[in-house]
Amino acid sequence: MHGLMQERALALPLVLRRVERYFGHKRVVTRRAADDETVATWAEVCERTRRLAAVLDHLQVPDQARVGTFAWNSQRHVELYLAVPCAGRILHTVNHRLYREQIGYILEDAADDVIFIDRSLLPVVWPVISGYAGMRYAIVMDDGADAPIPDDPRILDYETLLAEVTPLDREFSIPDENTAAALCYTSGTTGNPKGVLYSHRSVVLHAVLLLAVDSFGINERDVIMPVVPMFHVNAWGLPYAAILSGADLVLPGPMTDPAGLISLMERYRVTFSGAVATVWRGMRPYLTQHDLSSVRMIISGGGAVDDALSRAYQEAIGLPLTNAWGMTETSPVVTTSRLATVHDDLDPDTKRAVIGSPGPAIPLTEVRLVGDDGKEVPWDGTTPGELQAMGPTIAARYFGETEPGPAFTEDGWLRTGDVATIDPHGYVRIVDRTKDLVKSGGEWISSVELENAIMADARVAEAAVIGVPDERWGERPVAYVVPKDGAELDADDVRKHLEGHVARWWIPEQVVFVSEIPKTATGKFSKRQLRQLHEH
Ligand code: AMP
Repeated sequence: MHGLMQERALALPLVLRRVERYFGHKRVVTRRAADDETVATWAEVCERTRRLAAVLDHLQVPDQARVGTFAWNSQRHVELYLAVPCAGRILHTVNHRLYREQIGYILEDAADDVIFIDRSLLPVVWPVISGYAGMRYAIVMDDGADAPIPDDPRILDYETLLAEVTPLDREFSIPDENTAAALCYTSGTTGNPKGVLYSHRSVVLHAVLLLAVDSFGINERDVIMPVVPMFHVNAWGLPYAAILSGADLVLPGPMTDPAGLISLMERYRVTFSGAVATVWRGMRPYLTQHDLSSVRMIISGGGAVDDALSRAYQEAIGLPLTNAWGMTETSPVVTTSRLATVHDDLDPDTKRAVIGSPGPAIPLTEVRLVGDDGKEVPWDGTTPGELQAMGPTIAARYFGETEPGPAFTEDGWLRTGDVATIDPHGYVRIVDRTKDLVKSGGEWISSVELENAIMADARVAEAAVIGVPDERWGERPVAYVVPKDGAELDADDVRKHLEGHVARWWIPEQVVFVSEIPKTATGKFSKRQLRQLHEH
């Protein structure tokens, strides 16, 4: 017997209608230049969203066609986040920092019909995309940059198009909640990037989950500043969560300099922000110069939280960094940490470590660990296994593929490629990426743990570890270390610091000092580039 409840599609028009009805007075702030922001109300953003939907019709963008974006975190990008899926097309955000060949591959694979580009990105993006034959129009969004606009009949201007139409007056309707809403590509560290095709249902559920008090607890009183780019897994779903809850959004635009970001946080009384650790590390020297008393939660996601950095935040602004784990394939948030009743008696340092670990799965998602023998690994907090994930916000297969393929198990779980442990309360710890583990003398060394132990030294700004072939041990770790400005540090100092923090056989013989750790297109340490560096 079926239940007798209304079958209302979980689709983005519900989210749009809510912000229009209830939160029209709330704000979207976009930074244009130092101390220069535009401020719009959600009512204005929604009106422009309806115009943008009319523009898509006017340009005859077919139903379910992919609409590409090369854009910073900005109000116009939010308009695209809403208009494209609500009007039945698929939003395809592209990371302009990817290699040229990867961008070319992604456009062809996604078969984007029209592409929206921030003017400041034209010099980088246009040479890569102008030869893409599938692009009928390139719509330039003038963000104040003076980049020249190429002379090409396909180029149109965003504001002119919006001014020429009347806002769509029909109600948006997506009757089938499994209709595709958005497409993001994995960063493709090995092989070609793969498309992850989110549905309206998965996007809406993910937004609802970020509102849960035991996850990010996003609510109407929040002022959310996503520093994580809107071209990276939908800025971790933060814009949609802000829209659903009626929170204010503060968007850093093209500028991501630490001093500018922290000033923006202070001036707009930001309560919640999310970024990768590199961003929080960059802001650290400025913490005591600003009033950040409004901030209630800082998410450092996409990688491990370095405890030394989290401690610095706790000491400077009274708030440690909260970790969250996820991937492009998982919308992305699957776990985020919080202190539960079982942690009440822990000392402050251990509590900070709990908050800085990935934590338990959020509601409706499930995780498990599987060993090399294919058997489930117990949740004892020490036995590692491959982390696998399952849930309505997690991909079932990649875009364009007819079969789930090797990234998925026979019973439909996602194989994440991360090695983790899970404690009896369900708190996940990531040991490493499978491919980044260092196998020395038949035993595993976690590159992540070793990096964090090195970064716990106050003289170290950044550290990354890779495994290199070794005749005797199979592999040995090599540490790349960036000393803090003015710090005196040699390889012996690094090794001495590690004594007592990690097992003796983990201590690297080779420590290489560099001025910067190479980063991936999403700001994480690029182990691939480090390996290349090591080979040359
Ligand atoms: P991406 O799909 O580019 O977002 O990358 C996902 C990968 O980032 C995961 O498979 C992990 O290897 C890594 N990652 C994400 N979150 C965390 C975290 N909290 N701790 C450690 N690694 C993480």
